[in-house]
Amino acid sequence: VSPAGSRPERAVADLRSLAELTGGPGGARRVAWTAEWRTARAWLEERLAELPVEVDIDAAGNLWATLEGTRPGFVAVGSHIDSVPNGGWLDGALGVLAGLELLRHHAEGPPPPVSLRLVDWADEEGARFGRSLFGSTAATGALDVEALRGASDGTATLEQAMAECGFELARANDAHGRLDGALAYLELHIEQGPVLERGGHSVAVVDGCNGVERHVVRLEGEAAHAGAAPMSMRRDPLLAAARAIPAVSDLAAQAGATATVGRIAAEPGVVTIVPAAAEFTLDLRHRDPDTLAELLASAQAVVADAATRADVEASWERQWGIAPVPFDPRLVELGREACADAGVEPLVVTSGALHDAAAVAPLVPTVMLFVPSRRGISHSAAEDTAERDLLLGVRVLDHLLDRVLRSAP
Ligand SMILES: [Zn+2]
Repeated sequence: VSPAGSRPERAVADLRSLAELTGGPGGARRVAWTAEWRTARAWLEERLAELPVEVDIDAAGNLWATLEGTRPGFVAVGSHIDSVPNGGWLDGALGVLAGLELLRHHAEGPPPPVSLRLVDWADEEGARFGRSLFGSTAATGALDVEALRGASDGTATLEQAMAECGFELARANDAHGRLDGALAYLELHIEQGPVLERGGHSVAVVDGCNGVERHVVRLEGEAAHAGAAPMSMRRDPLLAAARAIPAVSDLAAQAGATATVGRIAAEPGVVTIVPAAAEFTLDLRHRDPDTLAELLASAQAVVADAATRADVEASWERQWGIAPVPFDPRLVELGREACADAGVEPLVVTSGALHDAAAVAPLVPTVMLFVPSRRGISHSAAEDTAERDLLLGVRVLDHLLDRVLRSAP
């Protein structure tokens, strides 16, 4: 067992200071490319100025702080300091300030075997301009800058907002290469869901992010009079949707997946008219690509059956999707060992939400740690985690970093 000499209570004190500076009763206000985000960044740079680290900011706005090691290569630890409007005090900030504490702890001792690099990714949330994982994607060189040129929040374009902060959208992918030499990327984050709390777990190792299939399902029948059309002579698309949805929900539950119908509408939407058409959204998620594909196919079959029974036509339009992102199995194993080091029962989960780690994982061996979210709430001023769990999360991250550093080539 390693000594793990960090002092997690310093990370929690930092989190409280940052919340005081850029939060309040309405929640965190650190929206990327705004004055409050720059305030948070300046505060972080002040903390870093007390340490023997080199700080620089890349073309995509990502902040890097490096504690030099004795051999080439580096281990990156971080997350994002930006928040959604009225956001929580822990989303992203936890991983950045836990990383700051690890830098501080290692700066107090002998130089690490390889460099230790804190990263604060720019605009993880995409809250203003709709592009999540902005900085981490740019660091992999995969940001579609052209597609973002028109992105606007109604008052300014992304290009203008970035320029105000001293960055050029067109040059964002110049951050590409910042991960060259990275031996591992570690990210501590809040779960943002209820699973850990319900199970009574303090820390979990995350083995990847779920893949997503997002579709709009449209059913078309024929409008008819609510009184004059007998039940046997209707072609009711809403009835088909209403029969299909619970069946898809059951399929997802059986597969250990999630299926969400977030929106449903009937046309024309009049109380006395059998609808002519019905439309609903379907969001399917699972960590395994084959299971996700099978679930989609089964959902399509269920909808087709319901459509046939109601004598209506079904069509599907794919809105968006992303393949599952598996994290590095060796790092997941080290994560389990790090939990044991800290006296925490190891639990492995898959993330339902996307994180910067998902952008980084295809290039660099990656793993995440989760701590519980009270009542599963996040992206809200009510977001919270018990202090005991915050401390344990930082402690496990410290042990994990020790194990990664010891196994570095
Ligand atoms: Zn986050």
